[in-house]
Amino acid sequence: MLKSSALSKTKEVLAKAEGPRGNGAGTPPSTDEYEDLIAILKFHEHQYYVLDDPQISDREYDVIYKRLEALEATNPLLVRSDSPTQRVGSDLTTNLEAVEHLVPMLSLANSYNLEDLQDWEGTVRRYLNMEADEPLAFAVEPKYDGGSVALVYENDYLMRGATRGNGAEGEEITNNMRALPTIPLKTAFSSLGMDRVELRGEALIRKDRFAKINEQREADGQQVFANPRNAATGALRMKNPKETSDRKLDAFIYSLGFGVDKDGNDQVQKLGSHFAAVEKLGELGFLIPGQYMKRCDSIEEVAKFCAEMEEQRPTLAYELDGMVVKVDDLALQARLGSTAHHPRWAIAYKFAAQQATSTLLNVDYQVGKIGSVTPVARIEPVALAGVTVSNVSLHNEDFIRDKDIRIGDRVLVERAGDVIPYIVKSLPDYRDGSQQPVEWPSHCPECSEPIVRPEGEARWLCVNNDCPAQVMARLIQHVSKDAMDIDGLGEKQLARFRENGWIQTIPDIYRLPYDEILALEGFKEKSIENLRLAIDQAKEKSLQRLLVSLSIHHIGKKASKMLAEQVEDIRDLADWPEERFLSIHGMGKTVADNVSAWFANSHNHNMIEQLAQLGVNTKQTEEDKPLAVDESAPFFGKTILFTGTLSEIGRKEAQGLAEAAGARNVSGVSSKLDILVAGEKAGSKLKKAEALGTVKVMSEGEFLALVR
Ligand SMILES: [Zn+2]
Repeated sequence: MLKSSALSKTKEVLAKAEGPRGNGAGTPPSTDEYEDLIAILKFHEHQYYVLDDPQISDREYDVIYKRLEALEATNPLLVRSDSPTQRVGSDLTTNLEAVEHLVPMLSLANSYNLEDLQDWEGTVRRYLNMEADEPLAFAVEPKYDGGSVALVYENDYLMRGATRGNGAEGEEITNNMRALPTIPLKTAFSSLGMDRVELRGEALIRKDRFAKINEQREADGQQVFANPRNAATGALRMKNPKETSDRKLDAFIYSLGFGVDKDGNDQVQKLGSHFAAVEKLGELGFLIPGQYMKRCDSIEEVAKFCAEMEEQRPTLAYELDGMVVKVDDLALQARLGSTAHHPRWAIAYKFAAQQATSTLLNVDYQVGKIGSVTPVARIEPVALAGVTVSNVSLHNEDFIRDKDIRIGDRVLVERAGDVIPYIVKSLPDYRDGSQQPVEWPSHCPECSEPIVRPEGEARWLCVNNDCPAQVMARLIQHVSKDAMDIDGLGEKQLARFRENGWIQTIPDIYRLPYDEILALEGFKEKSIENLRLAIDQAKEKSLQRLLVSLSIHHIGKKASKMLAEQVEDIRDLADWPEERFLSIHGMGKTVADNVSAWFANSHNHNMIEQLAQLGVNTKQTEEDKPLAVDESAPFFGKTILFTGTLSEIGRKEAQGLAEAAGARNVSGVSSKLDILVAGEKAGSKLKKAEALGTVKVMSEGEFLALVR
C-alpha cells in the first residue's frame, strides 16, 4: 500500500471507528473494509517495528486492530492466514538458541474501561454457566512494561531462562537470568511437592536507574534508549551476562504457570488461588508485585483499584502500561482455558494512552517573568493519559524549525508520567498543501516592543521592564508557594487588584487598601482578614524565599538557598565581586553576571528599599543559616531508612538518633539510600535493598552501638 493512500485510509477508518464523539462508538465494520484494514495495519506495523517511524498513536493502532478483530469475529470464513490478528508478536531476531515453553505464553485481550471489564466478566460467567450473584473473585496486578521471561526450575534449581519469543518458543537466556539478583538460583519448590516448575515474570529497569543509564550513555557518546522497556529487553539478550548485570534489571514474578511432582502430576491447583500462588512465590524469595497486587470480590472493585493505580502511575518506581485482571480461582482458570490467542481467564486493563495525534491549530506566544517569549501550540483537544490537552509548549524558535512544525500539521503528542505534554514530531506525510510555516514574531505580543535574541541563546526576550505580561508573571512568582507563599492571593485576585489600580509593582502587594477591597464582589470580611494575615506572615519569610520571589534570572530555589546562607542582608549581594559567586559550589559566571546586573538596575534597587520600608524581611533568618554539621559524626552525610519492627526503641526515637548522628532520614529504598536498619519482620524494603547491592544493611543492635 502506498504511504499516501495508507495514511488517508487510516484517517477514514479512524473517523468511522471513533464515531462523531471520538469515543469509539462509531459505525460497525463492514466486510468490504477487510482488505483495507489488513493493509493499513501492516503498513503501520512496518512503520513502527522496522522503520521506527510511527505514524499513529498506540491507541489508534488498537482501535483499528479491534475493528479488524470484530469483523473477523462475525465473519470467521473471511479470516486470512496473513491477517495481523493471526500472529503473536515475536522478538525472535538474534541467533540465541530457541527453546519451547512448557506452557505457551499467550498475549492478553485488552480492556479500557469499566464497561469492557463488565463485558469480559459476562463472558466468563456465561462460559462457566455462573449466575450473576454467585461469588467470583479476581486477582489484579500491575502490567509491567519490560521484557517477559519464563523460568524453569528443576529439583529446586534454576535450570533455564527464556524470553517470551513468539509465545510458543523463546530464546534461551539462562546465563543472563542467573545474573539478576532478584532471581533465586535455588529455592524450595520441593516444599510444595513440585519437581519441575515454570514461572512467568517481567524483567525491567527502575525509572531512576534508567535515567542514570541514559545520562551515562550520553556522556559516553552512545545512543540513548527511547524508554526503559527498550533498555530492559536489550539487556535480556546480551551476549555477556556481565552486561545484563550492569543494567541492573529487576524481575517481578507474577505467575506459577506450571508445577508437577516427579510423576508429572499437577501440584499448582492445590494452592487454590492465583493470589495464594503468587504469595507463595514471594515466600520462596522471588520479587512479586506485593502491595500493588489486590484480590477483589467484584469487577467494580477491580475497576476502582485499576483507577487508583493509574493515578499513582507517575510516582511509581517502574513503568506500567496497565493492570492485569485474572479470575483468581485456579480451578475456574483451568475450566476456562484459552482461545487460540488469549487465555479466557485473564484480561489486560490498559491505562489511558500517553500518545495521541492531533492537529496544530495555531501558535500563540507567552511572555514570562524575565521576558522570555515562549511559543505555545494550540491543538485540537485530545485525551492524553487521562486529561484533555489543548495547549502544548513549543519551547523556542529552534524547536519549531528543527521539527519542521507547521500550522495545520498533524502532530504526534506525548504525555508520559509526570512529564508535561510535548510534541514528539510533526507528521509531514499528512500534509495537503494548506499547512503554513510558523512566522516568528519580531515584536512582543503583549507590549509590542521589539524582541531580541541574546547571542548564543535559544530564547527571544522582551526587554521592556514594564511589559504588562512580565509584570504579571513576576507578581505571580512573588506570591507563589516556593516564594512568599501568600495564600488567597493568586493569579485571579492579582488581576482584579491590577484592574482596580491597586497593584502595579511587587511592593504594592504590601500596601493593599483592605477597606476598598471589601467593596469588591466576592470578598467578605473573613477572606480579607485571612489575606491580611497571609501578607503579614509573608513579611517574616526567610531571605531564601525573598530571593526566589524576585524573579532574578537563574536564581531558583537552590541558588537562593546557597546565596541566603552567605549574606546578612540581601543588599550585600549588590557589592559582591564575581569571584565570590564563583566560590559557591555550582555557581558560574552567568549567575554572577545576572545577579550583578539585577542589582545594578535602579528599578530593582528601589524596589528592595521599598520592601524593606514596608516591613518585608531582607535579612538572613535562622532558617537561612547553614546547618552546623559535625563531619566526624558516625553517619555524616548518609541517608538512612528504618524498616521492620524495632525492639529496643521506637521508630521516631531511632530517626532522631540517626539525625543527631549526621544522617538524613528518607522514606523509600532507592539507589540514593546508604543505610537500611532492618528490624524484625523486615519485608519488601529489605529485599529491595539487598537486591540493589549498594545499600549497607544493619541490625538495630549494630545501629545502636554506632550512635551511642
Ligand atoms: Zn513585552
